[in-house]
Amino acid sequence: MLQDKIKQYTEEIEQFSPASAADVENFRLKFLVSKGIIKSLFEEFKTVPNEEKKGMGKALNEFKQLAESKFENAQLEFTQASDAPKRQEGDLTLPGEGFQLGSRHPLSLVRKEIVEIFKKLGFIVSEGPEIEDDWHNFSALNFPPEHPARDMQDTFFIKKQDGNDIALRTHTSSVQVRMMEAGRPPFRAIMPGRVYRNEAISARAHCFFHQVEGLYVDENVSFADLKQTLFHFVQELYGEGTRVRFRPSYFPFTEPSAEMDISCTICKGNGCNLCKGSGWVEILGCGMVDPNVLENCNIDSKKYSGFAFGMGIERITNLKYEIKDLRLFSENDSRFLSQFETEMI
Ligand SMILES: [Zn+2]
Repeated sequence: MLQDKIKQYTEEIEQFSPASAADVENFRLKFLVSKGIIKSLFEEFKTVPNEEKKGMGKALNEFKQLAESKFENAQLEFTQASDAPKRQEGDLTLPGEGFQLGSRHPLSLVRKEIVEIFKKLGFIVSEGPEIEDDWHNFSALNFPPEHPARDMQDTFFIKKQDGNDIALRTHTSSVQVRMMEAGRPPFRAIMPGRVYRNEAISARAHCFFHQVEGLYVDENVSFADLKQTLFHFVQELYGEGTRVRFRPSYFPFTEPSAEMDISCTICKGNGCNLCKGSGWVEILGCGMVDPNVLENCNIDSKKYSGFAFGMGIERITNLKYEIKDLRLFSENDSRFLSQFETEMI
């Protein structure tokens, strides 16, 4: 009976759940082609008695629509998904996808390089907190209260309290104080770290940057030791033949104090934009540790002397890679950072 066949095939179609494009094609061949089941049912319909034709015709048309819509939906599913699932299934003949490797940040690269040079000279690495009290950031370093030198560094204060402000450290010199307080000479250490200044952000200034400071305290340490150490450092970092010169300067925590220039890395001293035609660029400040600082840290300044120096890692990096905008270091732009991939160590 036609009615039974329609019922039976309707159940089959409703349960039809294709797993591949081949299943969909088999469905089409079975039901929809000119020698398929639907066509044969319509042939059979011709033999149905006239009084049953109306009801049976409706049932047959609904069955046909069901089969067609099932086929269209199944076909859509497998043509839309035909590209992506194949890849997911794992076509072993496809070329592999490369791993996206990150790269070291240029500041980390240069910091590492600086640390390595001083390590060879016997300097250890010392670190300290970024939130400091007034004593370690200022007073112990010979910045008396109300001393105008405090204005040299715009400070981010966390808590203002009489005589003992809490602030973000403005330099890593605070680590030198902590180190000297905690031990006995000799000290030979470098202090790399992040420091903070309350400055407007521009291409040439930022509210945070990185320093490496160095400290050497022992008996009979002289300015000659300071000069030779820094000269050696520059030869290692910028290459043999790089010249240095020292200019008198002022820092509260060193006496005498100096700023050190190196012969311009770009023009080799002939004059260019970077060195503003002078042939020299400043890279760090240094000096003999002020006896007051030693005494503040309970070190006998009659017996011991020392030198200290400090440099901005950003400045050293700018000179090395000719980077002109400080903001690039903290914007996390992969177009900038990926340029240092080859420097991966
Ligand atoms: Zn130059």
